[in-house]
Amino acid sequence: MSRRGINEDADVIVVGAGPAGSTAATYLARAGLDVLLLEKSSFPREKVCGDGLTPRGVKQLIDLGIDTREENGWLHNKGLRVVGGGVTMELDWPELATFPNYGVVRPRMDFDEMLANAAKQAGARMHENTTVTKAIIENGRVVGVEAKQGPEKNPVTYRAPITVACDGVSARLAISAGLQKDDSKPMGVAVRRYYASPRTKDDYLESHLELWAPDGQLLPGYGWIFGMGDGSVNVGLGILSTSKAYGTTDYHQLLRSWLDGTPEEWGFREENATSRIGGAALPMGLNRKPHYKNGLVLVGDAGGMVNPFNGEGIGYAMESAKIASESVVQALARTGVNRERALHGYPVRIEQALGSYYRLGNVFSKLIGNPAVMRTATKYGMPRKRLMKLVLKLLAGLYDPKDGDAMDRLIVAATKLAPTA
Ligand SMILES: Cc1cc2nc3c(=O)[nH]c(=O)nc-3n(C[C@H](O)[C@H](O)[C@H](O)COP(=O)(O)OP(=O)(O)OC[C@H]3O[C@@H](n4cnc5c(N)ncnc54)[C@H](O)[C@@H]3O)c2cc1C
Repeated sequence: MSRRGINEDADVIVVGAGPAGSTAATYLARAGLDVLLLEKSSFPREKVCGDGLTPRGVKQLIDLGIDTREENGWLHNKGLRVVGGGVTMELDWPELATFPNYGVVRPRMDFDEMLANAAKQAGARMHENTTVTKAIIENGRVVGVEAKQGPEKNPVTYRAPITVACDGVSARLAISAGLQKDDSKPMGVAVRRYYASPRTKDDYLESHLELWAPDGQLLPGYGWIFGMGDGSVNVGLGILSTSKAYGTTDYHQLLRSWLDGTPEEWGFREENATSRIGGAALPMGLNRKPHYKNGLVLVGDAGGMVNPFNGEGIGYAMESAKIASESVVQALARTGVNRERALHGYPVRIEQALGSYYRLGNVFSKLIGNPAVMRTATKYGMPRKRLMKLVLKLLAGLYDPKDGDAMDRLIVAATKLAPTA
């Protein structure tokens, strides 16, 4: 049954068909809503990313009903190989009630198209080549969007009682509605490139903790090597905004100089590169709020959902999309103040799911912005496997929030101590 008014084009408009938008559109359409999904590009399209999902992200795929078996094109991994402080350590993903014990790798070119197809199959109406330029605001409320469509960039407008912004780090829609980012929260920047490499098949995601700035400072971040299983490897690095080097570093050059120092036989040399170097910012620690205001819901990167501990964003985009869609479904079955109450429930649930964990992550990112802390942590932490298991659980958000083991309980306790500001 449609919930829209006479002048409206859909029950809900979802802007952006990345992991956040396609996940939200799928859940909303499955609940019987008429969903308009607007995407500026057309599939298949590239998205600059590391292409890696920890078990936290895999859980979201499973919840959505995606078949994540290897025979369905997913490359599984069983943990993280950490390299730093002269030590290499393989840490398996933990055995938990909440999350599976495997991660996956899949190129975003293919991953995003698959999720967008899931949304279409669920009944969402997707309009590709449609760039949303701003929110339509009437009486202080977002009632739809203006967009430019097709090669001619024809102006179009769409109206709906609720609009969900899933347009990624640019957050154009949220900005047009006056929602600015909070600069006290950390940001990241990440660059990546594909190489043809014999390291293409790997049971572990590999993470290198020592990235050096040209002035010899240890940077807060890590380099990754993710085998894609098809003859290629996704190699990249991410750095936090909490270091002095942020904003003044040439990240393309940093990637090249790190890779020049890796063994020749890995193949990370110019002649084996199969793509350009691409990069983007990582909006972290819930840096754009409120996540709901006056008809507009912020999901995924648009709401700053990237994990400040490890830069992971796909799983959190999907997780926030699932929570948002539940609130929107409830809202559209109601009217007036009671509808608004359901929508205001979304930021409350995001806070419950991620708030204290991300606040701790924000503190962590500030600490490791100090090269001395980063150096000490790498030097003394790395050789201790039990400690590193705890670190893995913390950094990848892989703990059972209730009834977990001693490490899980320690992490839950630590998140409760995180400052509320
Ligand atoms: C180099 C790099 C490596 C990364 N590696 C990883 C990793 O390995 N694992 C991980 O989990 N995360 C990783 N991330 C983070 C991850 O890519 C993001 O957090 C994730 O893509 C967020 O999903 P999203 O749907 O919110 O936004 P996006 O994936 O950015 O999707 C936004 C969508 O909206 C569309 N859009 C944008 N503007 C408009 C508009 N105005 N109108 C209409 N459509 C619009 C875009 O075309 C896009 O399809 C990495 C990021 C970078 C930069």
